[in-house]
Amino acid sequence: MDMKKFLADYIACKSVSSDRSCAAGMADARRHLVKFFKSLSIDAREISVGGHAVVFAKTEQKPNRPTILVYGHYDVQPADDLELWDSDPFTLVERGGRLYGRGASDNKGGHSAMLLAIGDTLAAGEKIFANLKFVIEGEEEIGSCSMPRFLREMRDELGADFAIVADTWSLDEKNIVITTGLRGLVGCEISVRGCSSDIHSGYGGCIPNAIGALADICSSLHANGGAINIPGFYDAVTPPEEWELLQMKRLPMSDADMQKLFGIKQFQLPDARFSALETMRFLPTLEFNGICGGFQGDGIKTIIPHVASAKITCRLVPNQDAESVKCLLQKTLVDRCPKEMLLSVKFEQASAPYWIDVERIKNPAFVKIMKLVDSEIEDVFGNGPIYLRDGGSIGIVPMMKSILGIDSLLIGLSTADDNIHGPNESISLPMVEKGRKFFRSLFSKIR
Ligand SMILES: [Zn+2]
Repeated sequence: MDMKKFLADYIACKSVSSDRSCAAGMADARRHLVKFFKSLSIDAREISVGGHAVVFAKTEQKPNRPTILVYGHYDVQPADDLELWDSDPFTLVERGGRLYGRGASDNKGGHSAMLLAIGDTLAAGEKIFANLKFVIEGEEEIGSCSMPRFLREMRDELGADFAIVADTWSLDEKNIVITTGLRGLVGCEISVRGCSSDIHSGYGGCIPNAIGALADICSSLHANGGAINIPGFYDAVTPPEEWELLQMKRLPMSDADMQKLFGIKQFQLPDARFSALETMRFLPTLEFNGICGGFQGDGIKTIIPHVASAKITCRLVPNQDAESVKCLLQKTLVDRCPKEMLLSVKFEQASAPYWIDVERIKNPAFVKIMKLVDSEIEDVFGNGPIYLRDGGSIGIVPMMKSILGIDSLLIGLSTADDNIHGPNESISLPMVEKGRKFFRSLFSKIR
């Protein structure tokens, strides 16, 4: 099957999960997938537990064979500012060896490489020894909100030895990354209120100012140097393993490269033992994502703002627990709120961190696949993979771990050039084609 044709039809489905007006596009994407599975005589159906339906498919399941759960997501981010796109976001266009379109990289391209690899094998009349199950969800970009329920309700049907997910990053086609850890996420919106409405600043001097109070609270959350100043925040954090530090050395990238890439004057390193590249992977964070309050228009408006708010998210590292971090953060915010202010804290959905210690994997099926992946990546991409933690979060991975009890093999086909979530999203055509070749070889060898 032609990759460009398959992806062109897939990208044409306007499957923006956050946009109600895209319901037809979401349904089109599901139909596209179901049609693909049926063309290979793989049993497929749509399953909804309330939110956007999941496309679930499975091959004939035979006993005493490894079972693999292939994961992907058919939903995409909105295209947003069309003027910033060089071509229509929902029309696949090839330019300079790249395929452009919303979802090309995140994640239609990634899981299509797996699907077409399976199609190639079956179309050639070859057999795949492993039992395959497919979960292609439609809510990844909105926090996989109904996935815990889906995984729980479908637990018996979803049993597998491990999952394979192609929704992470690699450096480039020669440096493929196997992601061994993901940070978790806790997010909240805080607001402080000092009086019932904005007041003429002529009354000022004795009236509590919401912006000042919010700034004090926020600035108290970091110490000099950027370490997080919340008692107990780092207690559960464990240091990286020796093999992780060695893998970091294989990364053909330096702090100076990152500094240049992001246009940063100087990195702020909260722990002198770790470089910036290590800090992004091994340490938790607390970031202010947005802040608002008071008069934002042109010129001056002499008011005392009554309310100010900020959005805060923490990235968590392995062994930290989202619920405990929520409690610590809540307690600290309450303790540090000046007594003349009213504070409200609203937490958003959280996700747990995820980590596998590749030197101490106990699941024999997973050990086997890791070995196979190592040699197959070297064969197809020219170098063995680099095993690295990632600074980001993918909610479904810790969910599959906690609900189904399975680990995930995270293989990155996206690169930093893909501009996912932004305008002109694209994926390298050689990367997806090599990915497809790699998966074909991998699936044919799993025993
Ligand atoms: Zn995304």
